Amino acid sequence: MNIGIVGLGLIGGSLGLDLRRLGHQILGVSRQELTCQLARERGVVDEASINLTLLAAADVVFICTPVAAIAPTVQQLIPHLSPEAIITDVGSVKAVVIDAVAPLWHNFVGGHPMAGNEYSGIEAAVSGLFAGNPYVLTPVDTTPPASVKTVEQIVRSLAAKVYFCHPQEHDQAVAWISHLPVMVSASLIDACMTETDPEVLDLVQQFASSGFRDTSRVGGGNPELGVMMARYNREFLRRSLLSYRQSLDQLMELVEQENWQGLEKRLQQTQSQRSQFLGMRDEGLMI
Ligand code: NAP
Repeated sequence: MNIGIVGLGLIGGSLGLDLRRLGHQILGVSRQELTCQLARERGVVDEASINLTLLAAADVVFICTPVAAIAPTVQQLIPHLSPEAIITDVGSVKAVVIDAVAPLWHNFVGGHPMAGNEYSGIEAAVSGLFAGNPYVLTPVDTTPPASVKTVEQIVRSLAAKVYFCHPQEHDQAVAWISHLPVMVSASLIDACMTETDPEVLDLVQQFASSGFRDTSRVGGGNPELGVMMARYNREFLRRSLLSYRQSLDQLMELVEQENWQGLEKRLQQTQSQRSQFLGMRDEGLMI
């Protein structure tokens, strides 16, 4: 199959590496010539260009740009596409993307690979990024079932776990497990930096080890992604932040009241609940 990828960064580049290895012909488009050159050198693409005309031969096109650029990119792409071409995207929010893109191209299937890391750009592309991780597809009433099937088959070939849901449900769910953690993790780093004793702050930074590495990882990631989450999933993120603040207040109350039994009960609960989220899956690469 001829697969086009627009936006050769972490996600687009990683898709290219895996899909090319599976025998597809990969046509990559990015804004910068340097990105295209690196993509060719790293074996991410068979051909790369800064010009969307390269995608005239594509059967399926993955839009892997930042969320704000997805709909404008589709608009620019349409004149160059074959009428049967399927477009899909990888944006981390779905409702805003589907609302803008579905009216432009009926053969559009919204998607979101729940995999990533704190790096960005073509240099960050890695093979095997999607294997074992959820990949959500968000077809709507007007999405042609045959196009959904084609995208599903490609995603399954990456060894990703395919899920289907409505775009709004997707956004509501990722507010809890992806967007809220970024804000919580950022506020953790922020709070540590408020230590006023410079010697203690120095010790804090020297002592930071695996626990801090795990809990600060998503807060120390690409700021553009964090802003995108807040901007395009504002209501659901706000709702989860309010709930988180309440939960934090309850924990603080238990500590202030020296209610160690209550605190232990609470922590026992969260200890057993954690497996309901991650199961046996390796959480190392999730965002
Ligand atoms: P990235 O590493 O920054 O890659 C995006 C690429 O798109 C860049 O390399 C850039 O290459 C190109 N680009 C940037 N701005 C553009 C624009 N205005 N128009 C066209 N191309 C542009 O970002 P990413 O992490 O791969 O994220 C890409 C998409 O995946 C986003 O929609 C994001 O929501 C989604 N996503 C990210 C993660 C994650 O953990 N990072 C996980 C799941 C989904 P040039 O400069 O060469 O154009």
